[in-house]
Amino acid sequence: MIVKLIPLLAPFLILILIRLAKSYILSTLFTKKTTQKSKEMVSCDSCGTFVHEDLLISKFGKKYCSKECTNS
Ligand SMILES: [Zn+2]
Repeated sequence: MIVKLIPLLAPFLILILIRLAKSYILSTLFTKKTTQKSKEMVSCDSCGTFVHEDLLISKFGKKYCSKECTNS
């Protein structure tokens, strides 16, 4: 009885696997997009130069491009 049911259930199992794989791929692509979005160019509060978030210097709640700008 169970052996006879396996060929009938196989397409459904494959469909579920494909859907799981699709959602996994979409979720990984979505997380990649959000990480790219978080790394934006931000303008310096002192001189107005656009700086990459990784190189940004935060001081007193303001964003600066270099140490010289934090002093001015
Ligand atoms: Zn600056």
